[in-house]
Order: sequence, then C-alpha cells, then structure tokens
Amino acid sequence: MGSYYNDHTVLWLNGAFTKATVAKMDFYSQSFHYGYAVFEGIRSYKTHSGETKIFKAAEHYDRLHQSALALNMPYTWSTEKLIAITYELLQKNKLQDAYIRPVVYAPANMKFDQNDESFLVVEAWKMEPFLGEKLLRVMTSSFQRPNPKGFKITAKATGHYVNSILASQEAKANGYDEALLLDINDNVAEAPGANIFFEKEGKLFTPAPGNILPGITRATVLELCSKMGIPVAEKFFSVEELKKADAAFFCGTAAEIVGMESLDNTKFPASWNKSLSKKIQDAYKHSVTEKEFKPALALV
Ligand code: PMP
Repeated sequence: MGSYYNDHTVLWLNGAFTKATVAKMDFYSQSFHYGYAVFEGIRSYKTHSGETKIFKAAEHYDRLHQSALALNMPYTWSTEKLIAITYELLQKNKLQDAYIRPVVYAPANMKFDQNDESFLVVEAWKMEPFLGEKLLRVMTSSFQRPNPKGFKITAKATGHYVNSILASQEAKANGYDEALLLDINDNVAEAPGANIFFEKEGKLFTPAPGNILPGITRATVLELCSKMGIPVAEKFFSVEELKKADAAFFCGTAAEIVGMESLDNTKFPASWNKSLSKKIQDAYKHSVTEKEFKPALALV
C-alpha cells in the first residue's frame, strides 16, 4: 500500500518528535477497539514563491478541537501551538507538498465511559502536487451516509470512515472510480471523503448542511464563487436532479477539485475545460499555492 514513512520519518507524539519506526500506541486504547478517535486531513503546499504553506491550518485545527468536543474527548492543545508544531514537523521531514494527519485518541479503556485524558499524534507524508485532470466515473452507493441522529456527523471521527471504506470499496469492485452516498432521505449527500457540487445553467449547487461533513474545501469553493461572481446555492437535491446537471465535481482537502465524468454511466454533457467548475478548479489551484489569480472575464 502507500509508503507513508521510512526509517528517517519523524512524527509528533504527545509532546515530542519521535521516529515513526519506534513510536508506540496502546493496543488497549478505546480508539483502536471502537473507532473512537477524531482526526484531520490537512495539506501543505510549496507556494508560488517557494515557501511551505499549510492551507487553512487554523480552520483544520479548530475543526479537530470541535470534533473532540463533539465526542466528549478532553482536548488540551491550542490551534496556534499545533500549527507551529506542524510547520516544525514538515521541516524535520523535509516536506513541502504534504498531507498532514493529526489524530486525537483515547487511552486504554474497554468500557464506553468518558476518559480524563486524550493523546495526540501528528503525522505527515509527501503528497504529489495538484493534478486533478482526470474526470471520475462515479457510482451511486448502496450505502447511505450515517444517520445524523446516530452520530455526530459534523465531527471528523474515525469510526464514521467504516462507512466511507465500504462505499468506496463497493464502487471500485464495480469498476467505478468513486462512490456517491445519499442521505437518510435519499438526497445526495457526499462522497466517502469529499463534498459535491453540480453546475446547471451557469449556477452551482451543493447539498445543504445537515447530513454531510461540511468541508473546509466546500467553504473555500463557496468563497471563490462569491469572489468570482458565480451564483451558488445550498439545497437538498436528488440523484435524478444531479444526473441532469451540466457538470459536477467533488471537493476535499485530499481530492482538491476533481471533476466527474459520469454518474451511474450517465455522462455530464458540458466540456470540462469550458465549464464553470473548471474555473473553480483553477482558482482553487491558485489559491493553495498563493499564486495571484486573475479569472478570465465574462465568467457567467
Ligand atoms: N466529507 C467527508 C466525509 C470527508 O471525509 C471530507 C474530507 N475531510 C470532506 C467531506 C471534505 O472536507 P475538507 O474539505 O475539509 O477536507
């Protein structure tokens, strides 16, 4: 599988930089047994000027804090301190274009009750720079997103990702690139690890909050739309409505902006390169590398 670390890699574990090959965690941890942990997925980029910049670092670490609170996990770290640690971690591992993965986890506890402490590991590994050219063939999943009455779905909790793994594996077993999951009301929710937008007659739409993890990339897309004068609305919509879209894309920290070729073999008719979605993709690419972006005129 992926090569996330080697003999030289260091991670940050409970206050100290430690070699990944010797770092240990407790096999009696409540997190390991029950999927009870919270985490983040963050990216850093080599910017246009050559510096290393963590994209939306404060937003990610604030969400980590909120996720821990949502799950009743003690949380003792400040966003500021974690950002500083993460820059140091990148430097120690000589990383610029990286994926950063903090995980807050529980101590040894086989019961279901609350703990009086949490632990934190921050890992980072190399991520290839933005490509995002290939369009995805997507399948509507037979798995629903978790019921918001059963889980704190706005928390980025490890246990939720069993649902993501099942959906993604099902899609790949059926010859597709990725899954699209519906919510408990059969409206479109999100991909296993990304949000969705569609484009119809010069306007963008994305599922309203309620049954999704409202992503930081999704918020960035909403910001970019407002800057670029692209009309956008949040609403609930069905797969049938999505299939009548001109174009569609997934967005997330790892996926960035990635276009969809088809849903259940129904092709999106717009030429990707001429779509508003592509303009958003370009703007996002510029935004993460802090390159000045002058959108082409007459966008809409
Ligand atoms: N939905 C799910 C289920 C995710 O795992 C992610 C990735 N964190 C997203 C949406 C996108 O969130 P973000 O843009 O904050 O990475």
